[in-house]
Amino acid sequence: MKNVILLAPPAAGKGTQAHLLEEYYHLAHISTGDLLREASRTNEELRECLKSGHLVSDEIVLSLLKERLLNLKEEEGYILDGFPRTVAQAEDLKEISQKIHKEIGYVFLLEVPKEVLEQRITGRRICSTCGAIYNLNNEMERPTQKDICNRCHQALTTRQDDNLESFEVRYQTYLKQTQPLVSYYEKQNILYRIDSTKSKEEVFQKLKEILGD
Ligand code: ADP
Repeated sequence: MKNVILLAPPAAGKGTQAHLLEEYYHLAHISTGDLLREASRTNEELRECLKSGHLVSDEIVLSLLKERLLNLKEEEGYILDGFPRTVAQAEDLKEISQKIHKEIGYVFLLEVPKEVLEQRITGRRICSTCGAIYNLNNEMERPTQKDICNRCHQALTTRQDDNLESFEVRYQTYLKQTQPLVSYYEKQNILYRIDSTKSKEEVFQKLKEILGD
C-alpha cells in the first residue's frame, strides 16, 4: 500500500501530480485545500480566511481530514495534498496513520523557485466541475478552447486566493511554518526532492520511478 505526502509551496504542482497519482495508482486523493473550499461554501468566516492566504485552524482541518482518512477502505492507500503544513500537524498525522495502519512511506518535496510560482499563480485556471487544472502562462497547459475545460467542456474559473497579494502571504507562511517539515521527514529517511520546474509529465515520471509498480 502506498501512502504519500506532497509537500510544496503554493502552485508548485501538488494538485496536478496528485490527480496523476490518483489515476495511475488508484489512491485516494485527499486535498485539505479542496475540503476547505467545499466547507467554505456555507461558512463565510472560512471563506475570508482562505481568501487571505492564512492557515485555517488545526481544529477545522483535522476534523475534515480525519473523516476522510477513517473512511478509507482497508487496502486503500492515499495521497495527502496540502497536509501536513506544520510540524504539529505532522505529529497529529503520525498518530492517526498509526491508528489506521496506514503509515506514510513517501514524502515528495516539489521544488520550484518563487518567480516561477508567481507566474503559475496568475495563469492558473480550474474546472469547478471535474477539478482539471490549466495554466494560461504555459503553452503546454492551456485549454484548447479559451476558458473551457478540455475534459468536461464546462467553464473554467480562477481560485479566489490566486492573486499575488494572497500568494505572498501563502508563500511566507510556507517558508515559516511548512518548510521545517523538510528536515522533519529527512530525518525519517522518507523525503524525496523533485525538481518541479519540469513539465508535469516529467515530474510524474520521476515520482513513478521512486514509487515503482
Ligand atoms: P496552495 O498550496 O496553492 O496554497 P491549497 O489548496 O493546498 O493551495 O490550500 C489553500 C488554502 O487552504 C491555504 O492557503 C490555507 O488557507 C488552507 N489550508 C489548506 N490546507 C491546510 C492545512 N493543512 N492547515 C491549515 N490550512 C490549510
